[in-house]
Formats: sequence, structure tokens, C-alpha cells
Amino acid sequence: MAAYKVRIQQLDWMSPETKEKALLKLSTVIKKVGYPDKWRDYSALTITRDSYVQNAINANKYLHAYEVEKLYKPVDKTEWEMTPQTWNAYYNPSNNEIVLPAAAFIVPGVPDKYVDDAIAYGYAAGSTIGHEITHGFDDQGSQFDEKGNLSEWWTPQDRAQFLERTKLIVEQFNNYIIIDTIHVNGDATQGENIADLGGMLIGLEAFKMTDQYKEGKVIGGYTPVQRYFLGFALSWYGKYRDEAMVLRAKTDVHSPNFLRVNGPASNIQEFYDAFGIKQGDKMYVEDSLRVKIW
Ligand SMILES: [Zn+2]
Repeated sequence: MAAYKVRIQQLDWMSPETKEKALLKLSTVIKKVGYPDKWRDYSALTITRDSYVQNAINANKYLHAYEVEKLYKPVDKTEWEMTPQTWNAYYNPSNNEIVLPAAAFIVPGVPDKYVDDAIAYGYAAGSTIGHEITHGFDDQGSQFDEKGNLSEWWTPQDRAQFLERTKLIVEQFNNYIIIDTIHVNGDATQGENIADLGGMLIGLEAFKMTDQYKEGKVIGGYTPVQRYFLGFALSWYGKYRDEAMVLRAKTDVHSPNFLRVNGPASNIQEFYDAFGIKQGDKMYVEDSLRVKIW
């Protein structure tokens, strides 16, 4: 949150008027972390070892009844739409809240002793926490105010500036090829791509506030900033069959995993500096084409 504040204050394209509103929205983001204050009651759900199909039917009935119960009642703002065991996270614009289940903070397959600050900030602060906060300021989230109402809080000039910048990220991702001749749909994935870019920058900004960054200690041959980017990349370890990649290209609002890392990184100067990326390298992008939003 502190890192995000710094970055909003430093924006050169946003007016002081809109910045004030953005900072207000940021300061009122509700933070649900780890697990809910109020545990959900599953006692009405029967699960046995007898029948998988019956368990599925019972679960569907339970969930249906749970939703129907909500009818004509005020919205329960303490509700979690994910379980603590879910490896995922979300931003809910109608509540102006980030929800970060405990499982999102485990680096799968990596023992804690190997997770130094740089890795943790890349993995958790960048790809998850910064990502979710940025959803409050992406193409959709930015249309909701600090109370979660759909209402414009931007000056028309700032909105135009923002759209100018988001157009660039749509173009950047339209140019990426997922497989064969299939390109990313830059428009459909824009919110997620904005969140990935924002997350990578906010996580890095936050990491720069740590002692480990300031000490600059090399671990395993990697500098703190190199480790930060590697930690971010750990978030999107995964493998899909070609057919699944093709399906997801048409249906998923997220870019494919490798582009959730390479896409944002190629917009960030610290990445170029950390790994000595120069013109002619695969991930090199001309400075004038690099996307700068948050
Ligand atoms: Zn997202």
C-alpha cells in the first residue's frame, strides 16, 4: 500500500485532482488476508466416501441453497468468494477489496528457507498483492469509486491520458503469438495485463523499501533485483497442452503464463538493468513502445 501510494504520487500524467481521489480509493481498499473472520458453516453439506456423483449433487444443492439464502437480504461485505486453501486471489470492485487466501502465499515446491525477501516480494507482493490492488485501477476497476459504486472520479483529461496508455498495452499484447499463428487478444486480456504490469512495479517498489534490497547482497549468483524478477516468474510456472493453449487464447481473460512474466518485464527499466538486456535481445522493446501506466 505504501509503495502504491508513492507510485501514484509520482505519476507524471495524472492531475493532482485525480491523484487525490486515487489515493483516497487506495487508502480505503478493504484487505481480506489469509482466512475469513467468520467461518462458513458447511454442516448442511453431506460428503461421504460412497459416491462421487452423490457428493457432487450434494455440493451443488448446498451451494444453490447458500446463494438463494441471500435473496432480499443486505449484502454481506465480510463474505469470501474463495476458500483459504485456494491458490488464487481476487479484487472485487463492488466492495473495493482485495482478497488474498492463505494458499496464495506458498511457493509450491520451494521450502521456506530458500524464499528470501526478493523472492517473496516478487512472488507475493508483485504477482499477487500488487496485481490485485491494480485491478482497482485497471480498465474496469478504475470506473468504480472508493465505495465500490460505478461512478467516474477521473477528470476527462486524466481518463483520456489513461486510455492512451492502456491502448499501448492492448497493442503490445496483440502482437504476441501464443502458438502457431494465434495471437493474444490484447483487448480481452487488457485488465489482467494492466494488473500484471502494475503488480510487477508495485512489488519492486515495495521490495526497494527492504533492508535486503538496500544491502544488495548476492545470493546464488543473483542480485536482489534479479531474484525479485525470478520470484515473480515462479508465480507462473505451469504447462498446458497445445490444445488447451488454443482454447484459452479464445476464452481466458489472462495472457498465457509466459507472457504474464515476459510481457510486463519488457516494459520495466529495472529488468533491463538487472539482466543487461540490450537492443537485439529477444525481450528488448524500444523505449517509446514501453507501456507506463501505474
Ligand atoms: Zn487478475
